[in-house]
Amino acid sequence: MADLTLGALRRDGEAFMEALSREQHLALAGFKPNAELRPIYERFAHVLGPGALELTRDAFRSATQGSEDWRSARALLDWQVESHASRELAELDERLIAWEANAVVRLADGREVPYQRVAVELATQTNRDERIVLDDARDSLVGRELAPMRAERLQRERDLIESLEIAADYITSFEALSGIDLRALAGECERFLRETDAMWTDVHGDAVRRQLGISPGEATRADAIALLRAPRFDPYFPVVEMEPVVRRQVSEMGIDPTAGGRAIYDLAARPGKRSRAFCAPVRIPREVYLVLLPHGGATDYRTLLHELGHTLHFAYMREDLPFEFRWLGDNSITEGYAMLFDHLLHDAGWLQRYSALGKGRVAEYRRAAALEELQFLRRYCAKLLYELQLYGGDVPWSSLPDAYVDILSGATLFRYRASDAFVDVDPRFYSARYLRAWQLQAALRETLVSAFDEDWYRNPRAGPWVVRELFGEGQRELAAELAERVGARPLSFDPLIRSIEAALVA
Ligand SMILES: [Zn+2]
Repeated sequence: MADLTLGALRRDGEAFMEALSREQHLALAGFKPNAELRPIYERFAHVLGPGALELTRDAFRSATQGSEDWRSARALLDWQVESHASRELAELDERLIAWEANAVVRLADGREVPYQRVAVELATQTNRDERIVLDDARDSLVGRELAPMRAERLQRERDLIESLEIAADYITSFEALSGIDLRALAGECERFLRETDAMWTDVHGDAVRRQLGISPGEATRADAIALLRAPRFDPYFPVVEMEPVVRRQVSEMGIDPTAGGRAIYDLAARPGKRSRAFCAPVRIPREVYLVLLPHGGATDYRTLLHELGHTLHFAYMREDLPFEFRWLGDNSITEGYAMLFDHLLHDAGWLQRYSALGKGRVAEYRRAAALEELQFLRRYCAKLLYELQLYGGDVPWSSLPDAYVDILSGATLFRYRASDAFVDVDPRFYSARYLRAWQLQAALRETLVSAFDEDWYRNPRAGPWVVRELFGEGQRELAAELAERVGARPLSFDPLIRSIEAALVA
């Protein structure tokens, strides 16, 4: 296509994203046996072709930094770069998906466990020796077969993005496209790890000794998976009440949970429906699906609240926002809203009102939730620090597995495996978006508490503000800009440290 314009790219880009999202929704929710994505990619080839990449790169280079055009061009180019990499790596990704679907872990005694079942088996295996045997077998399979493919994917993706010459290298290209200063965020992560070190050594040691019956020095990542599952609270989060309770809470804060019929809840069981929950914005803001297969328990409540944050965000976006600020932009924002809702499960007042824990168990539940939160935060800080080494080029590729084990084990106090060094990596620094989202939800929570009181989640004045000031704006801003606009404190880990400390001593 010789004369693709930004206007045409927006129009066809939106039609392409809608078609893709609809097809994925139908397949993953069990309405179709398979997602037929190839015809969609063919029909919209010009949307992801070299012409579109060139057009958005020129627009980004020629726009005045900080202007609205620059903001638009940054979001469009980020999307084009990601799509370009996905298309170039599609064949390798198909091989990876096929491997994950078919791989089998073989134990010494002849038993076989499908690779995709291993995480669940590790979480539910109460016999530690069995857990070690399974994890040893997983480790050798992953090291032999999956790790080399994943390492190849990481290297090829890095080379591809560097060849687009958006900035000097992979890291600075990501910073230019995302607006996230990775080195500054890494500094915050180092400080967070230092400041919570003594606290984590205490609670980790105590939990490992009491709940796993082993000494803290022996604990592995497989033990962490079993430790953090905490099924003892599940009876207080009954499956039948989950959707009505959450809808009631959203109504009490003055938000229509269906967004006038635009948000559609799909919690029904259906053959072919995947067990992993997701939010599918098929048309933004007119048709947004929340898809979940409920099993009951605290984890399900958290998943529902998380996907609800995404769903309400998409269903309440202003319709007149351009395509790129509804469909694209900084995902720290939508992840921040998802976390704002899933973090209601850390709130004592919310738990008393909407769960069956009762006054007596709320403090105990919050301590367990804080332990899990601190573990995940320390893990994500460590992941970002490691991923900066992975892409930084100063550490030779062959030394990365040792660096991975040192950094992740050091931060979490659970021993990690070298074979996971190229497997446990989210593409394109998604860990940084999560860390920003974590900070954003904490800042927004403090703002909501000061404007609408401790129980903002049932204050009928809070919802309309959230819809207007937060959801309505889509993803036009970066997380830090959004926090500043709504009068929140600058993004940092400090409010998270405060809330974790408060829950641990409660
Ligand atoms: Zn999410």
